[in-house]
Amino acid sequence: MSYNVDKPGIFSFALETGISADRESSKRYLSNLRKIVANESALDEMLKKEDTLVYEFYEMGVPEHPGDIAFGTSICYPGKVGDEYFMTKGHFHTILDTAEVYLCIKGRGLMLMENPEGDVAYELLTPGNVVYVPKRYAHRSVNIGTEPFVQFFTFRADAGHDYGTIETSGFRKLVVERDGDFAIVDNPKWANKAR
Ligand code: MN
Repeated sequence: MSYNVDKPGIFSFALETGISADRESSKRYLSNLRKIVANESALDEMLKKEDTLVYEFYEMGVPEHPGDIAFGTSICYPGKVGDEYFMTKGHFHTILDTAEVYLCIKGRGLMLMENPEGDVAYELLTPGNVVYVPKRYAHRSVNIGTEPFVQFFTFRADAGHDYGTIETSGFRKLVVERDGDFAIVDNPKWANKAR
């Protein structure tokens, strides 16, 4: 649902949960992450019990015009597939030269980032932290905590989303649990196919 961005508008989000009563969220379940997770057999075992909600996001329906600003919330739930923490699929922007900011409002998580040249970065986010995702960097939110990881995001509205590159090649790094803490390790399935 879009709205008239030529007039002022006001929206609300619950600060604890990131939920907006103004829109329906888009939901991504374990079964949507088959191409994304490192350990597909662990995912299959989990799916025998339940197709768990991994993350959801509220987009406010700003039209994809260059002068407008898209915004919303992203909520990644706690959990793991094998030793890999629950995460969003992650994406490049279709217009690669488009940055984005995320403000953490709840929980504890990482923003995992990489650019096509192979630079990899991550930032730890707790409530009150804002991460600046530079242009050209793919980005993925990872919940390394025990409660929902909630962020507010905003970016240039015509940026577009390229999920296919990540679905094909993966991120270069994975975020896994090691001895009760997170660790950044090489992704054995990473393949430089798409770019
Ligand atoms: Mn983005």
